[in-house]
Amino acid sequence: MMDERIAVIGAGTMGLDIATAFATAGAAVIVRDINNNIISAAKARLEASLEKRVAKGKMSGEERSVILSRMSFTTELGDCKDADLVVEAAVERADIKKQIFAQLDDICRTDAILASNTSSISITDIASATKHPERVVGMHFFNPATVMKLTELIRGVFTSDEVYAKARAAGKIPVEVNECPGFVVNRLLIPMINEAIGLWAEGIASREDIDTAMKLGCNHPMGPLALADMIGLDVCLFIMDTLYTETCDSKYRAHIKLRQLVRAGLMGRKTGRGIYDYTK
Ligand code: NAD
Repeated sequence: MMDERIAVIGAGTMGLDIATAFATAGAAVIVRDINNNIISAAKARLEASLEKRVAKGKMSGEERSVILSRMSFTTELGDCKDADLVVEAAVERADIKKQIFAQLDDICRTDAILASNTSSISITDIASATKHPERVVGMHFFNPATVMKLTELIRGVFTSDEVYAKARAAGKIPVEVNECPGFVVNRLLIPMINEAIGLWAEGIASREDIDTAMKLGCNHPMGPLALADMIGLDVCLFIMDTLYTETCDSKYRAHIKLRQLVRAGLMGRKTGRGIYDYTK
């Protein structure tokens, strides 16, 4: 039973799921987003997803009620002042994250840990917006956070050992990562997806055969092209471009086919079409 008070900033795809995972583990969680419409939509998504788990027999009605009772929502950042740990999962923009961290630094107790779920922004850069960069750490969860067991724990230049150890205890199954673009998972995964798009675009193999090859040849649960559509091709492109601009290493050059699909608005499942067509 986790008795910590957690604040989650952002009630989007990741924020809501991270909050639910902490509440399921026993923590009291407050979730902050910018307006009541977004919060109402998040509450509806939460209730629907818990309802689905009850209907499938994965949790009891009583467990669902307990989880809901541990979760509260707010539009006021000030309501997060008592948190032991804040996990920021707002939009992937450095300017917005830095503004949030500067405000949290003023609002929260000095012993509170400020974590970011960023996929690509430097923790050291985010921490530079605070007066206490030693308490800023990266906690990179995976989608869906209620199911995926891993947290990449990212140490920025100033993250203290004490904060890192506490974040380690609060996360799921942690792997320790020193700050670098893409961390471990995305630095391996996204260039592999980019290479698979190249194989497909160059007519080396069909998209179905590329996916079958990696499923049966490497025991991956999904092929790289189906996975790219699930992640979102815009997200894949953004991460490739970040790897490239941060390192200036040509091995991270995004395949032109990936850029073309994104320019055409074919982002994958979320837009109905990407590498595969989901409209039929
Ligand atoms: P999302 O767009 O679904 O949600 C972002 C939420 O942040 C929105 O509800 C938005 O209203 C809110 N927001 C914006 N500004 C805010 C502010 N100042 N205060 C509070 N809330 C604010 O995005 P997402 O996919 O949940 O991604 C969130 C973060 O998690 C990003 O940093 C992303 O890189 C990271 N991440 C995403 C995934 C993924 O698979 N989607 C996986 C790992 C990490």
